[in-house]
Amino acid sequence: MNYRCAHRWAFPSWGGELTLHSDDLAAPTGHEVTVRITHCGMCHSDLHIQAGGFDMGGGKMSSLERAGTKLPVTMGHEIGGEVVEIGPDAQGVKLGDKVIVYPWLGCGVCPVCERGDDHLCPRASRNLGIQLPGGYADLVRVPHARYLVPIGSLEPARAATFACAGITAYGAINKLNPMTAEDHVAVIGCGGVGMTAVALLSATTKAKVVAIDPDPAKREAALSHGAALAFDPTPADALKVIGKACNMNVAGAVDFVGAESSSSLAVNLVRRTGQVVIVGLFGGEFRMPLPMFALKSIQISGSYVAGLNDLRELVALAQRIKLPEIPLDLRPLAQVNQALSDLAKGRVVGRVVLQP
Ligand SMILES: [Zn+2]
Ligand SMILES: [Zn+2]
Repeated sequence: MNYRCAHRWAFPSWGGELTLHSDDLAAPTGHEVTVRITHCGMCHSDLHIQAGGFDMGGGKMSSLERAGTKLPVTMGHEIGGEVVEIGPDAQGVKLGDKVIVYPWLGCGVCPVCERGDDHLCPRASRNLGIQLPGGYADLVRVPHARYLVPIGSLEPARAATFACAGITAYGAINKLNPMTAEDHVAVIGCGGVGMTAVALLSATTKAKVVAIDPDPAKREAALSHGAALAFDPTPADALKVIGKACNMNVAGAVDFVGAESSSSLAVNLVRRTGQVVIVGLFGGEFRMPLPMFALKSIQISGSYVAGLNDLRELVALAQRIKLPEIPLDLRPLAQVNQALSDLAKGRVVGRVVLQP
């Protein structure tokens, strides 16, 4: 294989289909590394990236183009593969290493990036699969070897999904206070990320995990991956039914949808001193009577992916304990457009992983 020519599935216009492009790669310089991609997970946020932005509520859209993202865009930020070329200054990796790639890159040199919180960099966003070419390709150029995390004995297809679904779930549940066996913790939205959170919570907390999703197949999957209870949020009395089943003792709710209905359910479901963590980027806006903050003493926070060290911790955790396995749907990379369409229609259980 020629490691100096990348074949990428990219969209040349916002909202357009992905088409195959060939791009020449120069020899890696400095700390750069080239990874031959074996697996790339497909994320729901790819649908927003392809559309060009996120729904910010009140009819407003964010714009990747205004924020400086250039076409064509090669998406894919859950990248797993093998190291095939190494720049002269790259350290800690060798040819043939099986790795996953931390994709949430910042400027790489500021104090925030230096402590491994590149995803919160105040200076620059250089995310693989958004601003820089990502994993819907056979090769990816990674700007620095420190963004590679060796997967050890982990199954490569599953490990790839850690780079977004895994750390997004891990980062969000890490924001929850310690819970007891009497507590309940709600996971709203059981797609790939929510299902990973159900799995991680059931492996790491004593609290009973409550899965909430309108899709019966996803509720079924959540129950078989550690959830104690599962509910459909759509009936008019859902809030009452779920609250009662949890003895009105929901200590935390993690909203992996991030829509008006899901965040409102989360805020109303948690008990006094409860925590709500909003993760999903479905969009819309959030309204809540201000006295409720004080009267319920609740905490509302957001969580956006997680840091490089979180990815390393998650990989270590997955090797130490047996995490329940979320369903994977392996497909050839050439079927990327079909897979995006299935994801948009909600026809995917668990995570699609594409293989070049
Ligand atoms: Zn993602
Ligand atoms: Zn930075």
